[in-house]
Amino acid sequence: MTTPPVATLPVATLQNYIGGRREDSAAGAFGDLVDPASGELVARRPVGCAEDVDRAVAAATAAQPGWAAVSSDERIGRLERVADTVATHAGELAELQCREMGKPVGLGRTFIENGVAMLRGALADARSYPFDTVTAHDDGSSSRVLRHPLGVTAVITPWNFPVLTVLIAIGPLLAAGNTVVLKPSERSPLSTGRLVELLDLPAGVLNLVHGDRRAGAPLSSHPDVGLVRFTGSVAAGREVGASTGRGLHRALLELGGKDPVVVDAGVDPVATAHAVAFGAFMNSGQICTSMERIYVHRDVAEEFVSALCAAAAGYTTGDGRDEQTVLGPLVDRRQRELVEQQVADAVARGATIRAGGTTPSGPGCFYPATVLTDVDDAMLVMTEETFGPVAPVQVVESWEDGLARASRSAFGLAATVYTHDPAHAAEAASIPAAVTWVNQWQGGGAGMVCEPARDSGMGATGGHATYDAATRPSTVYVAAS
Ligand code: NAD
Repeated sequence: MTTPPVATLPVATLQNYIGGRREDSAAGAFGDLVDPASGELVARRPVGCAEDVDRAVAAATAAQPGWAAVSSDERIGRLERVADTVATHAGELAELQCREMGKPVGLGRTFIENGVAMLRGALADARSYPFDTVTAHDDGSSSRVLRHPLGVTAVITPWNFPVLTVLIAIGPLLAAGNTVVLKPSERSPLSTGRLVELLDLPAGVLNLVHGDRRAGAPLSSHPDVGLVRFTGSVAAGREVGASTGRGLHRALLELGGKDPVVVDAGVDPVATAHAVAFGAFMNSGQICTSMERIYVHRDVAEEFVSALCAAAAGYTTGDGRDEQTVLGPLVDRRQRELVEQQVADAVARGATIRAGGTTPSGPGCFYPATVLTDVDDAMLVMTEETFGPVAPVQVVESWEDGLARASRSAFGLAATVYTHDPAHAAEAASIPAAVTWVNQWQGGGAGMVCEPARDSGMGATGGHATYDAATRPSTVYVAAS
């Protein structure tokens, strides 16, 4: 059965959402949002501006004391109802994501449900977080540590997981008593716009300004914004970090990656190849933690590569509304051109295309699941983030060689190793990354805390660390009487 098409929906003209009301952008200018599978016009999106940001920050500032005055129990309860609402509307939001950036509807629904689970996990962490603790000292004095909200915070998100990235970011900020101004990506504004309206939070607690960097830059440098939680590219992250630094405000920067995989001798090459295909091709490779550099031990390389090519053939491209589709289009032509350039650079320098590698003719921004071999460390496909369904495989002579190459990168987001050797599994912790997965790609759960290494970002999140970032501690010391 296929998902009913939503292409018959009228072309929406999007508006900002400020102080609980929709309103037009002061800029008065619009950009087109186009369905990357069909090329059809989906929406007109406002090109937000500094004036919109000022209005949203003012609304968030006005709402913040009231929101902070609500007991944390009540705030968390309200946000738990938000999680319920998103779960109820997961299908509708997944269809909007498919229209705006091509993600297959089934996959999109799964990730929205994951986002809801992560939001619930963060709210459970809030219930156990020490917002207000008193320590009595032996001499009769006491110290009270209070965790204050920062005030108005900003959330700036990318297009690859438009709903998930918002849920992860706003939950802890709001639970801690902050208010939020959200600026979603200009390449995926539809689902986030709908999400914000659905949540039914008090006016001004969660505001949304549409637009590109012309709205993002004034938001991240706004003097009344105490923290910017930014998810996006390294280049934009550097700009955000520079402005928050100038304002002496906080930034949580969750940026790009070029994640390595090390496949050790002794593993099942076919099963591992299928796992790697999933890690490299899922969401058309448009995941910050996609597998983008694959180092495979010579002992298993031949069987691994054939199985990876066979697996790639199963990743059929198509419109994400068709349930048979595994690989939707890339988000837009700009992204597809970047992938084409990296593959062309690799081929020009001696790489071999073993699967895919040819842009299909016809409408839509499709690109096939691609396997490259004979790659080397200097090729763009091994150094720059690709964000496409491309699996470059380099054969290594030893585990140590694979581990050393995995660690040699400007990025440090995540890494995966497949090994049956417990000593090798332990050594995987030496790869500079926020998270290292052993014998599985993705996963974490309660208790996970991490901070990206190198250019992949800064600021720890997960568990109580997210609340440490979302609050400012102060101590009241009372002398013994
Ligand atoms: P991008 O940096 O182009 O844009 C991200 C957001 O920042 C958008 O909303 C954009 O409008 C805004 N923006 C751009 N320039 C800005 C500036 N100077 N100041 C303020 N805001 C600005 O990234 P993208 O192409 O939308 O997303 C893909 C990138 O996001 C990839 O690099 C990917 O790895 C990364 N990403 C990281 C994570 C993570 O958790 N580490 C998760 C998802 C995506």
